[in-house]
Amino acid sequence: MIQKWFDLTGKTALVTGSSRGLGLVIARGLAAAGAKVMLNGVNRERLDAAVEAFRRDGLEAYACPFDVTDREQIEASLHDVKKTTGPVDILVNNAGIQRRGPLESFDPREWQAVIDTNLTGVFITTQCVVGDMIERKSGKIINICSLASEIARPTTGPYTAAKGGVKMLTRAMAVEWAAHNIQVNGIGPGYFLTDMTRTLAENEEFDRWIKGRTPARRWGDPEELTGPVVFLASDASSFINGQILYVDGGLLSLI
Ligand code: NDP
Repeated sequence: MIQKWFDLTGKTALVTGSSRGLGLVIARGLAAAGAKVMLNGVNRERLDAAVEAFRRDGLEAYACPFDVTDREQIEASLHDVKKTTGPVDILVNNAGIQRRGPLESFDPREWQAVIDTNLTGVFITTQCVVGDMIERKSGKIINICSLASEIARPTTGPYTAAKGGVKMLTRAMAVEWAAHNIQVNGIGPGYFLTDMTRTLAENEEFDRWIKGRTPARRWGDPEELTGPVVFLASDASSFINGQILYVDGGLLSLI
């Protein structure tokens, strides 16, 4: 019975930005729970390698290449892949970038790139997917937020603005689509080692700071996002809507 609540057999999941990093681990978790997964990224070689690795492990995966800021690319790629997989049941909006620098001299084009990818990309990708969900009166949308959805650090202004926006966009989506039996929730990871955070992890002072600032006294292991994502993608969370689940080793709870 318990297993049935979390079973994703027969579902199709699209995870944006899943050619590497957290998205890749999230997609693997959804596939392990039974879903067909559409992997996504911009770099085609990396994406194809990820799909191959899934298939070698007996997981059902398809390449769905597009840039989350480009509506035409999203529509074209989804149109192709859906012929094989059927419509998307589970959408994880995970693709994101980071650009650091002092706000007073931040390049406006870089500001725009972060907002376009991390916030507007969630809006556009979801618009391209949600029509099928509304029609079928069923869907799960999980937006990857951040601790920056709640708190700020110097030099990450655009990222913080975007992730704060993703949190509120999650709530806006939840209240608009709940009546269609669509649940929209967010996951806010703490600090996890990926390409995005590699320079931070390699900085001894920062690494020490993270371990001191996180009540769990360590970085997160990307695998620790699998349970929360599968939960929010499954029937087990059918009355949870508009919530952000922080997976942060307790960091947000500590002053
Ligand atoms: P990575 O840099 O490791 O991976 C980013 C992924 O996003 C890649 O697959 C990349 O594809 C893809 N991507 C980037 N831009 C686009 C785009 N325009 N269209 C489609 N795909 C794109 O990042 P993480 O795995 O660390 O981060 C994943 C998400 O988690 C982000 O939203 C990030 O903000 C969030 N997050 C991460 C934390 C961490 O500690 N790592 C903490 C909190 C939140 P490609 O390979 O083609 O470049």
